[in-house]
Amino acid sequence: MHSRSRRRHSAVSRMLAGSIIGVTLVIGAACGMMVMQMRRSAWDQVGRVSQNLLESVERLVDRNIEIYDLSLQGVVEGLRNPEVDGIAPDLRQLVLFDRAATANGLGAILALDPQGHAFVDSASPVPRPLRFPEADFFLVHKAREDAGLYIGEPLRMGPGGRRVIPLSRRLSYADGAFAGVVVGTIAIDYLNALFARLSLGDRSRIAVFRESGELLVRSPAREGAIGRSLTKAAHFRRYFERRAGQFVATGHTEAIESLFTYSRIGDRSLVATVVVPTAAIAALWRPKAEAIAGLVALLCGGMIALTLVLQRELERRARAEEMALAANHDLARLAHTDGLTGLPNRRHFDEAFARAREQAARDRRPLALVLLDADRFKRYNDTYGHLAGDEVLRAVARVLQRQVREPEEAACRIGGEEFAVLLPGASARPAAARAEHIRQALARLQIPHVGNEGGIVTVSLGVAEAVPGEAGGQCFAAADAALYEAKRQGRNRVVAGPEAPAGVKVA
Ligand code: GH3
Ligand code: MG
Ligand code: MG
Repeated sequence: MHSRSRRRHSAVSRMLAGSIIGVTLVIGAACGMMVMQMRRSAWDQVGRVSQNLLESVERLVDRNIEIYDLSLQGVVEGLRNPEVDGIAPDLRQLVLFDRAATANGLGAILALDPQGHAFVDSASPVPRPLRFPEADFFLVHKAREDAGLYIGEPLRMGPGGRRVIPLSRRLSYADGAFAGVVVGTIAIDYLNALFARLSLGDRSRIAVFRESGELLVRSPAREGAIGRSLTKAAHFRRYFERRAGQFVATGHTEAIESLFTYSRIGDRSLVATVVVPTAAIAALWRPKAEAIAGLVALLCGGMIALTLVLQRELERRARAEEMALAANHDLARLAHTDGLTGLPNRRHFDEAFARAREQAARDRRPLALVLLDADRFKRYNDTYGHLAGDEVLRAVARVLQRQVREPEEAACRIGGEEFAVLLPGASARPAAARAEHIRQALARLQIPHVGNEGGIVTVSLGVAEAVPGEAGGQCFAAADAALYEAKRQGRNRVVAGPEAPAGVKVA
C-alpha cells in the first residue's frame, strides 16, 4: 500500500517533469523559429534596399557616361568634317562642344594628336599645352581600333590634382589609321557627392570599379583607395559569376564580413557594388531577438523552478503520508502485541480465532485450539520473585514461537501465565500430539521450580477441536475444561476435550 502510493506520486512527478520539459522545448523551438524569421527578414530587407540603391547608382553612372559620350562622339564627328579645320577657333569651339561638356563635374574635352599632344581644348580656344602619350587610354586607342568608348584608369588632373576618370574615343583617318584620341573626364568628387546622397548609412559603402579591378569611386571616400586594384581581394572573381548578384564575404581592405550586392553598369566595363557589414544587419534583429530569447528563457526557467518546487512538495507529501501509514501500522501492531513476550495478545487472539473458524468452515478443514497454563506459578513468583517469573513467561513464549508454524498457526499470550495456540488444519488428536511436543520442549529446559511437583517449571495443556457452526466460546470452554482437567489430574500433562477420542496420557 505504501509503495503503491509512492509509485503513484512518482508517476505524477514524472508526468509533471515530462510535460514541463515538453512545453519548454515547444516554447524554445517557437522562439528559435521566430528569431530565425527575424534574422531572415532583416537580411531580406537589407538585400532589397541594397539592390534598389545599386540600381540608382547604376542608372546615375550610366546616364552621366552616356551624356558625356554623346559629347565625345560630337567632337569625333566634328573633327572628321574637313570644313571644321578651316574655321576660326571661337566658331570651331561652338561647333565641336555642346553644353554637356560644360556641366558640373564633367571636365574639359581634349583632342589629342597621334603623339598625344592636345590640339583642341574645350576649355580654351588656344589649347593648353597638355600631353598624354603614356596614359593607358591613349595607348589602348593607339593599339586597337575597336575600343569604342574607353573608360581609363583614374588619373590626377588640373591645378588641384583632382582625381578624374578619363573617358575617351579614338580618332581615325579615313583609312582607319590612328589619328589621335578625344578624351574627357568625370571628376570622382562629383560622383562621390552624388553617391553620398544615396548612402545607406555610415556603415555601408558604395563603390564603382573597372572590370580590370581599379577602384574608381568609393563612397564614403577613403584616403588612397581610388585607383587601387581590387584583384587581390579573395572575393573579386565572384563579381564575374553573373551580371548582377549578391554574396557574403570578408572585405579586402578592412577585414569585415559584409553582404556584397553588385551589378555591371549598363554595357560598360564597370561594376557597381553596395557593401553592408553583416554586423549592421545583425544590429537590425539581434537586440530584439536577444530580448525575446532572454524573456523566454526567464519564463521557461521560472516554469521549471516552479515545477521542481511542486515536485519536491509532492515528494514531501508522499513521504509524510508513507510515514503516517507506517506509524499507523506500528500502532496497530503494538495494539495487538504483548509487551512482555512479544507474542500477539488477547485482542489479537480473539480476532485470529474468529477468522480461523470462518476460514476452517469455508475450507471444511478442522481447527484445533490449545490452551496452556504454567503450573504453580504463584509459588514460582513467591519463591524466585516476579522478575524471574517474567523470564519464565518469556521462555515459554520462545518455546511456543519455535513450535508453531507461522503464518498459518499462531501462539498468543491470552492472560497472566496463560497462552493459546491456534492450529488450523489439525483435528484434536494431532493437535494433542503438538501440545505434547510443546510440553516436552519446555520441560527439557529444566528451569528449577522447587515449589512444583518434579522440581522444574512445567505447563498443563487443554486441547479442543472447533465444531463448524458452533459458537467460538464453546470451543474455548471445551479447551479450558480440558486444561482444568489436566490440572486436576496432577498437572504437567495434555488433556484433549470431549470430542477427542481419548485423553492423552502424561508422557
Ligand atoms: P495452577 O498450577 O493451579 O495454575 O497454580 P497457579 O499458581 O499457577 O495458579 P494461579 O492462577 O493461582 O496463579 C497465577 C499466578 O501467575 C498469579 C500471578 O502472580 C502470576 N502471574 C500472572 N501474570 C504474571 C506476570 O505477568 N508475571 C509474573 N511474574 N507472574 C504473573
Ligand atoms: Mg492461571
Ligand atoms: Mg497457573
